[in-house]
Amino acid sequence: MTSTTDRIAEIERDALAALASAEDDASIEAWRTRVLGRSGELTGVLRGIGGLEAEERKAVGAEANRAKQVLEAALEARREAVRRAALASAEADALDVTLPGRPVGIGRLHPVTQVRRKILDVFERLGFQVIEGPEVELDEYNFGALRIPEHHPARDMWDTFWFDEEVDGKTPLLLRTHTSPMQIRHMQSHEPPIRVAVPGKCYRYEATDATHEWMLEQVELLAIDEGISMANLKGTLEEWARQMFGPGRKVMLRNSYFPFVEPGVEVAVDCFACPGDDPACSVCRGSGWLEMMGAGMVHPEIIEAAGYDPERYTGFAAGMGVERVAMVMLGVSDIRDFHANDPRFLAQF
Ligand SMILES: [Zn+2]
Repeated sequence: MTSTTDRIAEIERDALAALASAEDDASIEAWRTRVLGRSGELTGVLRGIGGLEAEERKAVGAEANRAKQVLEAALEARREAVRRAALASAEADALDVTLPGRPVGIGRLHPVTQVRRKILDVFERLGFQVIEGPEVELDEYNFGALRIPEHHPARDMWDTFWFDEEVDGKTPLLLRTHTSPMQIRHMQSHEPPIRVAVPGKCYRYEATDATHEWMLEQVELLAIDEGISMANLKGTLEEWARQMFGPGRKVMLRNSYFPFVEPGVEVAVDCFACPGDDPACSVCRGSGWLEMMGAGMVHPEIIEAAGYDPERYTGFAAGMGVERVAMVMLGVSDIRDFHANDPRFLAQF
């Protein structure tokens, strides 16, 4: 008899100690199964009572029932304590609406987009209409109609990406190398006077370095009317340079060659960051001039091919790289930074 009641006391003591360290519902339930469940420790003692002497059975039964009630009461108390603790911790984590909000990072326009918009704003004020054209272009528009026939060495200046598909079995498709195809497309569907600015992405199949990318943005300019001369070209670009880089800017035209203009020129703007002779100038590197674009008078053959009378109509065209202008304006030394997607770079502008 003594040994059984001792066993009950031992179960009760160990069980109460174990219950005190049960910290959540799962461990409390495991405790209940182990102590009070159908195969539990105390249940086992109660089952064994039937085999005892009548007098002993009574004493052990009373003791076992007392222990069972104590443990069941302790179980309920522990469940309640754990529930309250969980509630208190949830309240501590609850949203405090009086705290100041976390700042949300506000996005901004990509630097190339900012500069493209500024370029176009100026040309729009000068009376140019902004139009866009396809990036996947026909060979005919990208090269042929611009006086760059197949096997012409000038094609080397614009190596590009070609598609396998052909249209009408003869004309290959390519990613346009410049926005100049829109000169042809627009002239074919419009009559002079024409004043358009054509922004858009262009593609070149070439190795990339600090000044060359395989994808670039251009803005193309085309003006066709009676009596248009080089003076109009220079005046337009001079006004553009002054609105972009500040009053007093000068424009220099230097002889160059593009198959679709005659004469063709390279256009440079004088340095806005130094007097023009500072060898330490990071913008012009001491040359005093910043190469901005190619330009020229539209070739008479192109005017004639558009169905206009080349004796009556003349025009000028110009094409600039937006990234090139952006590099000069923003002081960027590597063109690849624009599309490297590094927010530390982009957030500066
Ligand atoms: Zn300079």
